[in-house]
Amino acid sequence: MRVLLVEDEHRLSDVIKKGLEENGFAVDAAFDGEEGLFLAQSEDYDLIILDIMLPKMDGLEVCRRLRNRNLNIPILLLTAKSQVEDKVAGLDSGADDYLTKPFAFLELRSRIQALLRRSRQEASPLLTLSNLQLDPIRHQTVRAGRKVELTPKEFAVLEFLLRHKNEVVTRTMITEHVWDYNFEGMSNVVDVFVAAIRRKIDKNSAVKLIHTIHGVGYKAGVETLVVSEVEP
Ligand code: CA
Repeated sequence: MRVLLVEDEHRLSDVIKKGLEENGFAVDAAFDGEEGLFLAQSEDYDLIILDIMLPKMDGLEVCRRLRNRNLNIPILLLTAKSQVEDKVAGLDSGADDYLTKPFAFLELRSRIQALLRRSRQEASPLLTLSNLQLDPIRHQTVRAGRKVELTPKEFAVLEFLLRHKNEVVTRTMITEHVWDYNFEGMSNVVDVFVAAIRRKIDKNSAVKLIHTIHGVGYKAGVETLVVSEVEP
């Protein structure tokens, strides 16, 4: 999941970014409203965390402009004030939720998870494929009843693949959602991560769950045998 964080207080921005990265999110930080608006329109984010009091353009205006341009990404507003008018104005501007500073990181994380779930209209937060189960909230992965230990980035890559199960996803799609814009890694970084994930989840299973689609990318799914009919 890739998040845009627009917050001008550098210390708070650093704390949020670090916390989210530890939870497997990729985070781009912007420090004023104009930069935030620009990034929101040029990159592909899953969620935006937007402070209201920002230099150059306030968060409410950024929010309004994004909605006017039909960008329907979930937006969580941060506000230093707890006045009712701010909250009403925030939701009127098209934001999905708001959080009053100061807040606990766990509160922020659970609001984010709730917004992501709502935007995907999921009944259950669990992602499953055959006997593999991934819980994005508890950050747990289980294959055939056995717990699998994944690093935050491995978890994020697997989560992305499972959210698109039975679809072919390209390496670019994966890097755009799992790494932030400062990422200048090796071109084969996705392959390295997928190899590590496979070693961990497929270790004791005959059924392989991540398939290489040559020249394109990867697909999470259970391979079905294609039996071609033979003319009698
Ligand atoms: Ca601020």
